Amino acid sequence: MIQDIAPEIFHNEFTPKPPQAEDILFFFRDRDRAVLLRDRDGRISFPLCREVFPDWFSQKAGTDPADRCRYLFSITPDPAKPEEVRSFFLWSAGAAEENAAALVSDGCEFAPIRTLRRGVPRDLCFAGTTAYHLYVWYDLNRYCGRCGHPTVLSEKERALICPDCGNTIYPRIVPAVIVGLTDGDRILMTRYAGRGYKGHALIAGFCEIGERAEETVRREVMEEVGLNVVNIRYFDSQPWGFESDLLLGYYADVKGDSPIRMDENELSEAAWVSREEIEPEEAPISLTATMIEAFRRGEV
Ligand SMILES: [Zn+2]
Repeated sequence: MIQDIAPEIFHNEFTPKPPQAEDILFFFRDRDRAVLLRDRDGRISFPLCREVFPDWFSQKAGTDPADRCRYLFSITPDPAKPEEVRSFFLWSAGAAEENAAALVSDGCEFAPIRTLRRGVPRDLCFAGTTAYHLYVWYDLNRYCGRCGHPTVLSEKERALICPDCGNTIYPRIVPAVIVGLTDGDRILMTRYAGRGYKGHALIAGFCEIGERAEETVRREVMEEVGLNVVNIRYFDSQPWGFESDLLLGYYADVKGDSPIRMDENELSEAAWVSREEIEPEEAPISLTATMIEAFRRGEV
């Protein structure tokens, strides 16, 4: 899946540090969910700090990048080489578009964030989606939701603080379930109605306040296809920064033999598909595709 970057190790501990020349700097554009990148036939790269601040890194002159870059996280390539750490930063000094103009003319372009779903190398694509998740949270919380005062960064943890009323705002992670609903040798496949993504999906939905994840599974299956479930079992999880989600994957067996009663507002298609009808998928990116593939192989 997109987060599986071993042997590299993702470090999201809150340990802010100043940018180094080879560190990566992300520019996002919110109005069309775009990220500044170079795309060479699917091979992705992002601007380096030394490209954005050439004077600073060549002769310690000009703008100090520490004033313009917000530390996000680091990745080390190998547990045996901790000194080879690469850190990732977010442009934090105004509109990304204007400040990235010089880089746009140097082979970088704003591309839809979904480009990272299929790009390589995998570690940079995962870093890009995770940075986007953090960017959205920072961007939506520039002002206190209680009193409207501008927020500031906490110095001791990843949080935003309102200096006026003391409100502390932690990163927003939205839990949602993915359900592999099975009936013996068949799994229930769906297609969403009215969304850009047209591929096969599984039943999915957001956890509501006051609800266990297993209750979300029961409720979403009933709402989307009108079926009861038994034998709910946890499979795996996935951080999905494209939508600020933490996805929780469950399989469950259908109870009884009721017909599918599809919610046409949510879905355009819902049908039982047998194992042998499923197309194989090598190295799936998403939890949904991983769950479909695990079922196809008879692993679950
Ligand atoms: Zn406040």
